[in-house]
Amino acid sequence: MKQLLEEAKLLQEQIVADRRYLHQIPEVGMDLPESAAYIEKRLAEMGIESHRCGVMEESVRQKYIKMGFPDMRASTGVVATIGSGSPCIMLRADFDALPMEEINDLPFCSKRNASHMCGHDTHAAMLLGAAKLLKDHESELKGTVKLMFQPGEEMGYGSKTMIDDGLLENPKVDAAMAIHIFSTTPVGQVTYCSGVASSSLDTFAIHIQGKGGHSSTPDLCVDPIMIANQIYTALNMLMTREVSPQAVATLSGGVMRSGTAVNIIPDTADLQVGLRTYNVEARKHVLERLPEIVDAYAKAWHGEYEITMFNCPCTFTDETTTKELLESVAEMVGEKNIQAMPPMAGTEDFSYVAEQVPSTFLVLGAGGPEQYPHHNPRMVLDESVFYQGAAIHANCAIEWLNKHSK
Ligand SMILES: [Zn+2]
Ligand SMILES: [Zn+2]
Repeated sequence: MKQLLEEAKLLQEQIVADRRYLHQIPEVGMDLPESAAYIEKRLAEMGIESHRCGVMEESVRQKYIKMGFPDMRASTGVVATIGSGSPCIMLRADFDALPMEEINDLPFCSKRNASHMCGHDTHAAMLLGAAKLLKDHESELKGTVKLMFQPGEEMGYGSKTMIDDGLLENPKVDAAMAIHIFSTTPVGQVTYCSGVASSSLDTFAIHIQGKGGHSSTPDLCVDPIMIANQIYTALNMLMTREVSPQAVATLSGGVMRSGTAVNIIPDTADLQVGLRTYNVEARKHVLERLPEIVDAYAKAWHGEYEITMFNCPCTFTDETTTKELLESVAEMVGEKNIQAMPPMAGTEDFSYVAEQVPSTFLVLGAGGPEQYPHHNPRMVLDESVFYQGAAIHANCAIEWLNKHSK
C-alpha cells in the first residue's frame, strides 16, 4: 500500500490549492453555499456525482435565531459515493469556519469577518484528495465509500441535519471515520482515543421574564436579576451536591445579561450555561434536574421563564473499528507515529454519527505544542501533512472494505 502514499504525494499541490481556496471563502454555520459549490465542482471534475444532504428544521432554525445566530435557512451538506454495493464505509470532513478574524500574514489569509481557525478547510481538501485516490482505484473497491462533507460542526448540529436527511442510508453505512487536524500535535503524528473521544456539550439559554419597574419599589416588581442569580447559584450547587466527584463534569455560565440603569428593575434577564462531561449518567441527571431547578426558583419569586436547549452527545469510538483502521493508518504513517490520547475536552458533532455507526475519530498533527491552538486568530497549520491525510482516508476505506466484503 506504499504505492497509495506515493499517489497521494502527487496530489499534494492540488490538495493545498483546494485548501487555500476554501480558506479564503470562510463561511459560518449550516448554510455554506460557496464552499459547498466548490466541493461539488471539484468532485464533478473528478467524475464523481454528488448530492446535497441536510435538513434545517424550522424549530432548529428558530432556536438558533433566538440564541443570536444569523438566520440559517439551509444545511448545505454534500454527499458522494465511490464504488458500489455493500459494505459501506463513510469518511467525514467538515467544512465550516468560525465567526472570528484571522490575524496571520499569509498570502491566502481570510479577508472576511470569519476564518478557518479550526482547520476544517483542510479536512475538506484532504477528503477531496482521498476522493481522487479512491476514484482512481474504483474498480478495485469491494463495496462503497461514502464521502460526507458537513457544514455546521461548530454549531454542534451539522451532522445531525445530514443524518435526518438520510445520510446513513442508501447505501446503509456500516462504519465511519473522521480526521481532525491539530495545530498543537507534532507534524505527521496520528492520535486516537479508545472509548470516549470528546465530551458532550449541552447549552441552556434561560430567559427569565420578571416585571420591571422603579428601583424604589421592588415590592411592586419581579426582579429577574435576582432570579437569575439564584438559579446560577443553585446550578453550581447541583454540580457539587448531586454529581459524583468521580464524574468529570463542568457547568459554566458564559452569559448573564440584564438591566440598563441602576434606578430600573429590568423586565427580563438572560442566563446561558453549558454542561460538558464524558459521563453519560451525570449528563442524564443534570439534563433532568436543571429544568426542575429553573422552574422552582422562577416560580418561587413569581417570575416566568423559557429554556432553549442545544445538545451534542459524547463521541464514542468503537474499539474493533479503531483497531482495524489503525492498521491501515500505520501503513501510511508508520507505527511509531501513532499514539493513544485521552479524550478531548472539546465537543465534536461527529458524535451523532458515532451513536449510530461503529466509528473512529483520529487526530492528524500539523504543528506542535509551541503552535497557537485552534480557535486562536493566529492558528496556522503545516501544509506538508495534507497528502498524508488524504492517504490515510483512502487506505482506511480500501482496506476496511477488503476486510468486510462478503
Ligand atoms: Zn472548532
Ligand atoms: Zn474543529
